[in-house]
Amino acid sequence: MITNSDAQKVIRPICDEAVNWDYGFNYSGFIIQEANGSPLSQVQSRLIQIFISDSNDPNATTFSETHRITLDRTGYFNIEIGSVRTRNFSEFVDSMNSKENAEYVMEVSLNSNGNSVIIGSKKLLTVPYALVSNALGGLGKQGKEGNQGAQKRLAKQKWDTEKIKKRVFKHSLYILISFIISNVFLAYIISSNTLIKIIKEPVNQHVGGFISIWIFTGLFYFIFSWFREQVCIIACPYGRLQGVLLDNKSIIVAYDYIRGEGKNGKSKFRKNENRKEIGKGACIDCNQCVEVCPTGIDIRNGTQLECINCTACMDACDFIMQKTQQPKGLIRYASEENIEKNKPFEFTFRIKAYTTILAVLIVVLISLLTIRTSVQVNFFRVPGELYQLQENNIVSNVYTYKLVNKTSKDIDSLSFQLNSHQQGKIKLVGTSHLLLKAQDIYQGTVFIQIPLSKLKNSNETIKIGVFKNGKKITTTSTHFLSPKNKW
Ligand code: SF4
Ligand code: SF4
Repeated sequence: MITNSDAQKVIRPICDEAVNWDYGFNYSGFIIQEANGSPLSQVQSRLIQIFISDSNDPNATTFSETHRITLDRTGYFNIEIGSVRTRNFSEFVDSMNSKENAEYVMEVSLNSNGNSVIIGSKKLLTVPYALVSNALGGLGKQGKEGNQGAQKRLAKQKWDTEKIKKRVFKHSLYILISFIISNVFLAYIISSNTLIKIIKEPVNQHVGGFISIWIFTGLFYFIFSWFREQVCIIACPYGRLQGVLLDNKSIIVAYDYIRGEGKNGKSKFRKNENRKEIGKGACIDCNQCVEVCPTGIDIRNGTQLECINCTACMDACDFIMQKTQQPKGLIRYASEENIEKNKPFEFTFRIKAYTTILAVLIVVLISLLTIRTSVQVNFFRVPGELYQLQENNIVSNVYTYKLVNKTSKDIDSLSFQLNSHQQGKIKLVGTSHLLLKAQDIYQGTVFIQIPLSKLKNSNETIKIGVFKNGKKITTTSTHFLSPKNKW
């Protein structure tokens, strides 16, 4: 008969396994005689049947499964309940989670030589901690494949229609999102107009662009489907740098080890226990903060290179604290100093200074964006050239100019005007029509002519306006040389 398997030993594994979202628990015992009462024969293979039901609700979902066991010489056996009908067992456990007050009874029968006898009957107590842990599924990676537990089960599941459907859906979604991101990324680099051309025009006109879209799509798909958090750990420079950027006053996602460990350290949750009185820390060692962490670290060991400050552990721990009737914030935004000295968050001088600097930078950035012109122009004197004094005392200087179109549209019919000297003229060399192509640079030569009588000295600053359809776009200035001092 079964001699092992008291209620606690059966119940505890449910807890631990549920935390890992990998349902199933171990059951072990000794068989010392056959089901019909005769001494144990030499046949070492037996059938053990498990049946779990809710004694308060005969219509509730029940679970049963049969294990073929092999006994050793002492009659010892060990089975994992939930490992034969995995899917049904997970569904059954899921149904348990909604009924914290249900009374589940597990019966274990031995079948041998056509006889069946109940060799164990135990009440399974639902443990709030395990239920709470399981309910945290909503905080993990979600989607068509469900929470982390469901994803693990799906990974182990054989390739049936359900698994193929879910996997195809997931990877199609990854490819779609990767394709969208790839397009946005390329629009940023090569401009949205060029990207639209690549999409609209025949592929053979934009082979390079077309290949780039798919290379980036492949890259993002690789990141989503496989590389994932490794980007944050290995590829992102922030992770590498954060160690040197932080000090004990930096606000980070931190575990309050003073509160969490208490006097006697963290320990599992027990109902109706006053943890404070007996010196236990607030941490119930449920491991949820680790389970939900995308980079797989335990924030209770202090801030680490891999932490990407996603705050998933904060949410998970708050949920546990709420369910165990303890104050939230065991993992929270805090500095090492806040935790060590049990000080609340303070708006320190340093934070004020940084906030001010940040505000100034934002204002400067917005101002620069506001006053940014669509065309940049520069006039340069031709090296080695001074001036020419022409008929009627007109002074002429020669310049090269450079126009930069910062927009993604062509700018046609540009013209120059001398703003500083109304009687002066600007003569284009080699062209009469200025067309500035999108994101292009245009260079040319001009003569600027000003009557000597309108000049005040031999090296005068002149202002040149760039116009489109009579509207000034931008202005630049340069120097104009003349023989003015000699007169
Ligand atoms: S810190 Fe919170 S989530 Fe993490 S093990 Fe402790 S109680 Fe659980
Ligand atoms: S914030 Fe928490 S969950 Fe997120 S990476 Fe850091 S330790 Fe992990």
